Amino acid sequence: MKLLSSIKNEIKNLTNDCYKNNKLQLNNICKKLDIECFESDFDDFRISGMLIKNKETNKFEIYVNRRHSNARQRFTIAHEVGHYISYKHQSYSYEQLTKNNEIEDYAISFRHENIISDAETEANMIAAEMLMPENKVRELAEKGLTIEEMADEFYVSAVAMTVRVQSLYKEVKFV
Ligand SMILES: [Zn+2]
Repeated sequence: MKLLSSIKNEIKNLTNDCYKNNKLQLNNICKKLDIECFESDFDDFRISGMLIKNKETNKFEIYVNRRHSNARQRFTIAHEVGHYISYKHQSYSYEQLTKNNEIEDYAISFRHENIISDAETEANMIAAEMLMPENKVRELAEKGLTIEEMADEFYVSAVAMTVRVQSLYKEVKFV
């Protein structure tokens, strides 16, 4: 799957002035998009987060599981923003959000693209590009930073960082 070029452009414009060093300031992203973001105690620990359209205010809200690690919460928020951007561009999340006004995410799996829906894959791709922009990852990789060092730079988990590096360099490494 490839991201729509309109989505790629939106990511660029949206995130452009929102990095502090290499750390994406997600609260600024949510503010720009007029999305309110809340931490929540979900009964079910497996729930990573949700994106909901509030019927009274007509605004979107993100709920993230406060019991998850900070790095995981950051990925979840970026993933939910990904669903919202997809909806805005009438891409893969459009239908579900139009029909149900919400998307609930269980343990976001960003490793097995083939077993998750297009909407989930796309939201993960948007999240990855926002949190770990391709040009910055390549820049740091060329400087010789390890996965762990890069994960620290971007404030993401080592697993998320590994998946990102593998997907960007797969032509070289895995073919
Ligand atoms: Zn999702």
